[in-house]
Parts: sequence; structure tokens; C-alpha cells
Amino acid sequence: MNLATTTIQNTNLMVNVDDLNSIREAIPQHVTLVAVSKTKPVSDIQEAYDLGVRDFGENRVQELLQKVGELPNDIRWHAIGHLQTNKAKQVANLAHLIHAVDSPRLFDALSKHASKPLDVLLQLNIATETSKHGFSESELLHALDNGLLSNPSIRIRGLMGMATFTSDENQIAKEFRTLRRVFDSLQLGDDFDTVSMGMSGDWKIAIEEGSTLIRVGSAIFGSR
Ligand SMILES: *Cc1c(COP(=O)(O)O)cnc(C)c1O
Repeated sequence: MNLATTTIQNTNLMVNVDDLNSIREAIPQHVTLVAVSKTKPVSDIQEAYDLGVRDFGENRVQELLQKVGELPNDIRWHAIGHLQTNKAKQVANLAHLIHAVDSPRLFDALSKHASKPLDVLLQLNIATETSKHGFSESELLHALDNGLLSNPSIRIRGLMGMATFTSDENQIAKEFRTLRRVFDSLQLGDDFDTVSMGMSGDWKIAIEEGSTLIRVGSAIFGSR
């Protein structure tokens, strides 16, 4: 494809193709890019799909259910948002990966509805904001030690976290480092291989600090 053609095609796209491509080129091979499509229409997702993206992230169950029905079935859907226990059933067997398991209660609810082993991440609260969800480090260790996060129908694939919303890159790096340190300290088996951290504003820092999966929305689809 020559440059002129690319430019003409891109003018009608909602996806920021240049930004998408530069992220894809910048990330190491072992890092997965999840395109966060929450609030964006199916047509935007289809555009990204046509550009080869297969991993998409949604944070609302209703929206996820609707989009799954309207889009190609080889998409890997990532449930990235806080999940209420009463929504566990709807998400359990739809999502490729459930990123935000933040309590033993939710873990139990998911295990009840698993028709095949479910892949999940445990959310660790690494931010200073009280509004953010997730286990504290001590809560997580307690839950693991007491067998509260153990069920044959659930595979714990790793940890997920969100850094504080701040322009202080040192603080962001420090929080991501904490997530990676806790991940490294846990011995949860060969399937435990995923560190989900990094969004539009901080994915570069996250990769430097050991992310294996970044969740990028606005840098690909524009602001919400
Ligand atoms: C919205 C969201 C993202 C993507 O945020 P951007 O800043 O748009 O990249 C990533 N992770 C979670 C959990 C989100 O809710």
C-alpha cells in the first residue's frame, strides 16, 4: 500500500491508525495490546478488527453482551471493569479473560457459573485513590493463604492494576513496580503469566516496569 492510499483511507476512520500502529511497533512481542472499546460503537470496533486487532476490552456487562452478538466471533473479549457479583453469570463464559476479580465473593460467584475453566486476573489496588477497586497486598495474601481463591474451575492467570491518575511519572512507576513485585512473589503455577497494567497515558511506563498486557482505549479510539 502506498502512502497516498493510506492517507485517503484513514480520513474516514474513527480509529487512530497511526497511533495504533506506533503502539504495536513499540511494544515487545511478549506484551498483549487490548484495545479498550468501551462506549465506542460497533463500527469503530469493526475498523480496528479489520486492522488486525483481536483483543478488545469492555467494562460494562450490558454493553459487552450487545457487542459480542454483533461482531466477529474470533474476538477475544476482555472484561476489564469492576464486576458486580450478580453479573458474574453473564460474563463468566463470554470473556476470554476477566481482569478485575477483587474479592473472594466475586471469585466464588464466577466459579459457580463456569462451564469450562475460566481465566481471571486478581486486581490489586496499587493506587492512592480510595475510589479504586482491588485487593490490598495483605488482603490478597490472606485470601490466597486461606484458600479463598482456589477452585478447579478458575485459573488465576495473573494480576491487574491501575496506577493513580497523576502526572507524577515516578509515582506511576512505583505503583506498577509494586504490582510486578507482588506478581513475582506469588508462585501460582505455570498458568500465572499475566501482568495487566498500563493505559493510554502510562503504557510505556508500565512496560518498563514489567507489564505483559496493556489496556489502551483513548489513544486508539479517541477520547470518550
Ligand atoms: C477505560 C479503561 C482503560 C483504558 O483507558 P484509556 O485511558 O482510555 O486508555 C483501561 N483499563 C480500564 C480498567 C479501564 O476502565
